[in-house]
Amino acid sequence: MALKQFKAESKRLLDLMINSIYTHKEIFLRELISNASDAIDKLYYQTLEMGDTGLDRSDFAIEVAVDREARTLTITDNGIGMSKEELDNNLGVIAKSGSLQFKNEKEQKEDIDIIGQFGVGFYSAFMVADDVKVESRAYGSEESWCWESKGLDGYQISPSGKESRGTVITLHLKEDTEDEQYGEFLEQYRITSLVKKYSDYIRYPIRMELQKS
Ligand code: ADP
Ligand code: MG
Repeated sequence: MALKQFKAESKRLLDLMINSIYTHKEIFLRELISNASDAIDKLYYQTLEMGDTGLDRSDFAIEVAVDREARTLTITDNGIGMSKEELDNNLGVIAKSGSLQFKNEKEQKEDIDIIGQFGVGFYSAFMVADDVKVESRAYGSEESWCWESKGLDGYQISPSGKESRGTVITLHLKEDTEDEQYGEFLEQYRITSLVKKYSDYIRYPIRMELQKS
């Protein structure tokens, strides 16, 4: 399947994230958890309007799991999900937070403040991951699709076998180097404390799956 190219502005933000020297890379988890929560909110409010859908508030949850052997971290939600077109459109555009626009007005050396102060959104995953996979099934759809990118080269969208509604994001963490430790995000205690830190405003349960290996 052919690689699709990122739009120029997205590519700039992505480049900024991939080559980030920002110290608090952990904020990627805040961004992904808040996206998961937004996706559940969207479905929850939609079902309230639709009346009896058989879905209950207590059915909604976010799950964070670690697989040390595979070096992956997954964030799962059973929210509204994304269609093929939504994967293409929503993940191909930069966060609405305006961080890039803001960056344009400043010099490169101020990147650090910008990342900390603004929501940088989905692309922040690329601060810690060298491969990002987003498998999703939109609410009410019979199809599921997988968006995958290894960075600036582009992304692919292919059919997925996901059978339940919602989205699973799988991050393959960058290899550790002398200067940078990404493996810390595979440590259960580290993830647990980050989830605690970022779950303050999240109104759905965040479950942790026990270490697979
Ligand atoms: P923002 O959250 O500010 O809109 P993001 O970069 O964080 O920007 O996310 C971009 C878009 O991708 C979101 O607006 C949403 O439409 C879509 N998205 C991201 N994560 C999910 C998810 N887990 N479920 C459904 N849609 C998602
Ligand atoms: Mg977001």
